[in-house]
Amino acid sequence: MANNITLPPNLQDKIHTDADAIEAASTDFGHIITKNPAAVLFPSSMEDLKALIRFSFNSSVPYTVAAKGQAHSVHGEAMATNGVVVEMTSLSKSGSNRIVIGGDKASGFYVDVGGEQLWIDVLNATLQKGLTPVSWTDYLYLTVGGTLSNAGISGQTHLKGPQINNVNELDVVTGKGELVTCSKQENSELFYAVLGGLGQFGIITRARIVLQPAKTKVKWFRMLYTDFDTFRKDQEKLLAVNESGSGEIPNFLEGQLLMDPNSLDFYPPEDRPRIASLIKQYGILYVLETASYYDDRTKHSVDKKLHQLFKSLSYLPSIYSKNVTYVEFLDRVHTDELVLRKKGLWEVPHPWLNLFIPKSGIQAFNNGVFKNILLKQNFTKSIVLVYPMYRNKWDDNMSAVIPDEEIFYTAGFLHSSGFDNWQVFDNINKEILEFCDKAGIKVKKYLGYQDAKDKWIDHFGSKWKTFQDMKTQFDPKMILSPGQRIFN
Ligand code: FAD
Repeated sequence: MANNITLPPNLQDKIHTDADAIEAASTDFGHIITKNPAAVLFPSSMEDLKALIRFSFNSSVPYTVAAKGQAHSVHGEAMATNGVVVEMTSLSKSGSNRIVIGGDKASGFYVDVGGEQLWIDVLNATLQKGLTPVSWTDYLYLTVGGTLSNAGISGQTHLKGPQINNVNELDVVTGKGELVTCSKQENSELFYAVLGGLGQFGIITRARIVLQPAKTKVKWFRMLYTDFDTFRKDQEKLLAVNESGSGEIPNFLEGQLLMDPNSLDFYPPEDRPRIASLIKQYGILYVLETASYYDDRTKHSVDKKLHQLFKSLSYLPSIYSKNVTYVEFLDRVHTDELVLRKKGLWEVPHPWLNLFIPKSGIQAFNNGVFKNILLKQNFTKSIVLVYPMYRNKWDDNMSAVIPDEEIFYTAGFLHSSGFDNWQVFDNINKEILEFCDKAGIKVKKYLGYQDAKDKWIDHFGSKWKTFQDMKTQFDPKMILSPGQRIFN
């Protein structure tokens, strides 16, 4: 018994109710919400997960269960008020190898990974065999189960689709405590529901992820624009290059706003005064960020193709580039993390907002949001990402929700704040959403919580009925991932 809930007696030695365990499970990267669970499970096997959920499923008053990867959510998504939080990383201490490479050249390579594994560990393990997953997030200290519950997007999504599109098979412990293997061929309803399913249908304990041969090095570029329309047309040109089957160049396509003259570390010192004065003159510079992978064999052909490609773009004179290793490139945000940690600026509130915006609204979004809200109100220190992707790289059978247009953009407002002023940023996020609503821009939130059930219904749109039906089928007692606040 913990805090009025009855827990499985056979898991007693793995369930912790001490203050340290409760505190660690009551907070997340957002540092905005704190919710105490009644207990925390440190599982060492699938049997533990099954036993925990089955016990709840069979009790007259079921308790809720939240899988917690790294708690890199920002609004309490991995929390369970008065329920049980499962410290998924505990599974990696079970002694068995939880990253196993399989397949062959003819049928394709894959890696079977535990849902609790970090993407950085998946990268390091697969590279030892010269292989790599194809789709990433910008930051790799996230768990496989955590990103697959959302979508997992980054600059590779334009080419390979989100991470959820690069999974062949899953093992999932459902809300009934049953371990089910699923894929497009087997138990497909569960497979599609879980991918992008916000943890609502089961806990991912294994994912089979597509691999391809890895290149060793990366040419990484940034180009600057003063005009949004020119910037996004160039982004769309690069987006289209791969659709014409030109052979995966570029491999990476993103973009961001540059509004802070003190954040110019990427650029050579001699150019910084010029860039700073452009920021002063225009308020916002748009940065097109792109990259191509290569090795010694392909170095020259990649150079030639990039040269050709860049000739068709209209950036301001000067391309800023770096040659880095493949790992340095993929793990770039961790380098920033270490710097911020040293300055005490990592464990601070993160009132983030991530949106998907249909292409038809992106110009109005630039004027209304970037210029008229962010710039006018001087929110120029936040990292703001903006880049396009194709709808056809996503699988519409999956739970993840995207706009209903062939091309859409993602915009990420990655604010950091003090503990006493995160509401100011939250208000700006609300203003952004209100603007979109009034302007008729049909944005979809990514990673985002909704503060009312009808907003979730609106979010899922035509997918809501299936989402609800799958909940009834796989988690009828509404046990899983209560922190998403969809059914609980
Ligand atoms: P948690 O926050 O622990 O969990 C998230 C949700 O998934 C919860 O509802 C939880 O219950 C559920 N869950 C966790 N594990 C499982 C499992 N095994 N099975 C089923 N459900 C589970 N996202 C992107 O797409 N692209 C990015 O580039 C990106 N960059 C980021 C950079 C930083 C610095 C941070 C902090 C986050 C970033 N994210 C990005 C967001 C990230 O994808 C989400 O936070 C995601 O939830 C992964 O975090 P996590 O593994 O800590 O999951």
